[in-house]
Parts: sequence; C-alpha cells; structure tokens
Amino acid sequence: KTFADLGVMESLCTACETLNYKSPTPIQALSIPAALSGKDLIALAETGSGKTAAFALPILQSLWNNPIGLFACILAPTRELAYQISDQFEALGGGIGVRCAVIVGGMDMMTQSVALGKKPHIVVATPGRLLDHLENTKGFSLRTLKYLVMDEADRLLDMDFGPILDKILKVIPKMRNTYLFSATMTSKVEKLQRASLNAPVRVEV
Ligand code: AMP
Repeated sequence: KTFADLGVMESLCTACETLNYKSPTPIQALSIPAALSGKDLIALAETGSGKTAAFALPILQSLWNNPIGLFACILAPTRELAYQISDQFEALGGGIGVRCAVIVGGMDMMTQSVALGKKPHIVVATPGRLLDHLENTKGFSLRTLKYLVMDEADRLLDMDFGPILDKILKVIPKMRNTYLFSATMTSKVEKLQRASLNAPVRVEV
C-alpha cells in the first residue's frame, strides 16, 4: 500500500517521498484511514514505529481543509520528544505552510508567550508548562482546538502528569478528536482513555 491508498492527499504524499518514507509503516497503515474517517484512536506503538507521522499526517490533512485558529495540541512527556514531534510536523507540513510552537519546561516563559501570540496551528508541549501558559498567558487558550494527542501516555502518567492532564482536558472543547499513543497498556492508561476518548478505534501492531 501507498500513502495515497490510505487517503493521504497529494501534497503530503510528496512530503513523505521527500523524507524518503517509501511506504507506510504498519502503525501508519492502521491509524491513518481511521483518523481520516474522523475516529478517535488508541494506539499501542513503540518509538521507531513511525507513530509520529501516524498522527501528524491526518492532522495536517485536516488542517489543510479547515485552517482555523490553534488547531492541534500534542502533549509529550519530555522536551526532547516535543522537539522531535515538532520537527516532524514541520518536515511533513512545510509545504502546506504549517506553523508550530514548542512549549516545554526550562525555557523562558516570555519567549514562549510571544511564540503563542504568533498564532501557531500546532502546539507541541509538555503538560506542566502548557498549563502554566493556560493559566498565565493573556489571550492564550485552547478554545479552537480540534485535535488533542497524548503521546507516550504511559510515560506521561508515570511522570505524574495525570492531574495536569485532567485540568487540561477540562478547558478544551468536547467536540474534538483525541489520539492516545502508548507503548504499553496500563490501568492508568485505560483510565485516561475513558476520560478523554470517544468510541476510539484501537490500533495495535
Ligand atoms: P517515530 O516512531 O515516529 O519516532 O519515527 C521513527 C523514525 O521513522 C523517524 O525518524 C521517522 O522520520 C521515520 N519514519 C516515519 N514513517 C516512516 C516511513 N513510512 N518510512 C520510513 N521512515 C519513516
């Protein structure tokens, strides 16, 4: 199968070719059609499986069709992962003009507030710092959010981000799509799934 067979639009297929993604990985082959059909996802996938593009491609395609406001928020457990995710969004979405902001701990709040003021389409964040901006950065909200991704959810919960995730879930639109990616299925991940996903498709490779 090709990315086009999965329903990926031409300009994003071209971006995949440029990045030398010759064919979809198994997690991409299962996730992308379900995501493009508007379903929530719970995906069990390890780093290296191609999980980032599995959620980035459907989000970018949807953004292209309806580019309104801050569109997607990706939550990751570590700064390094947040930067990697943002790099992949920019590599895949550069051709369609996507703007990303990375909002992680240990960096200057003011610089991040300015970046948020520039109206990014995608925010990739660690949960604590995102909540800090939601509470303290004037004019910043997730009111227009269409997609929430929780990447490496098992690690997010192991790092005790659970209560912060609960707070973030309270201030984002109920009408949205949510993708939960995790290397392992734990009881904490199941609880988060129940609190955040709506009739998800379960993807396992
Ligand atoms: P991830 O699991 O998202 O961390 O991705 C692992 C690596 O695989 C990244 O460097 C991606 O750029 C790369 N990658 C993602 N999808 C594909 C694909 N379909 N073919 C080849 N490489 C890919």
